[in-house]
Amino acid sequence: MKRKRAVLKKPKTTFHFISLFPESFSSYIQESIIGRAIADNYIDVKTYNPRNFTKDKHHRVDRIPYGGGPGMVIEAVPIVKAIEKAKGRSKAKVIALSPSGKQFDTEIAKKFSQEKNIIIVCGRYEGIDARVKDIIDMEEYSIGPYTLTGGELPALVITDAISRDIPGVLVNETSVEEERIASPDVYTRPEVITYKKKKYSVPKVLLSGNHKEIEEWRKKNKKK
Ligand code: SAM
Repeated sequence: MKRKRAVLKKPKTTFHFISLFPESFSSYIQESIIGRAIADNYIDVKTYNPRNFTKDKHHRVDRIPYGGGPGMVIEAVPIVKAIEKAKGRSKAKVIALSPSGKQFDTEIAKKFSQEKNIIIVCGRYEGIDARVKDIIDMEEYSIGPYTLTGGELPALVITDAISRDIPGVLVNETSVEEERIASPDVYTRPEVITYKKKKYSVPKVLLSGNHKEIEEWRKKNKKK
């Protein structure tokens, strides 16, 4: 049965995205669990465009790399200024995104779910001038062994993973706990599906009502 949750006065965690493409977050964060967590003030999301921290009248932030090479590099100063703006007086943790960073995982998500403010710096092009890491204390994470065109998708992945561990974000809080014994294969109605004349049934044990057997089946299925 679904429980109703209170609307909070202050968000538990605010995610601050530093991004040249702030519009790219809006659709995802309005939907489903994350959208409702924002509406009920469990989490908040703010964006900061480094272009707004330039002196150049064209608000340019990308430059050719020293030493040559392909693509463009994002200047350090507008990124540092955007991080400082996001940080304010808070003790925000700063996450930088890079395919060569440490692999982000569940344990790290849990650790970050205790934070009040998390700043996530999204790169683009060939990345960000490395001197940002000398100026700002930050942890560098990758979401997987592949290279994407920008940090906006990784920022959303990380935000989603952290948010699930913030108490109240999942209305049915047992979901996180139950996941430890949940099988990756889940089923719902109807009990039997007929597709191209072939029948596909739900495993009988899940219809048995025997919780011990169901739990055992799930544990066994998870190890596959
Ligand atoms: N050589 C650059 C580097 O190692 O950071 C590649 C830059 S990549 C083309 C552009 C941006 O996308 C990165 O600065 C980072 O923000 C983001 N990105 C790409 N793949 C990523 C991954 N697997 N995990 C986290 N961020 C990633």
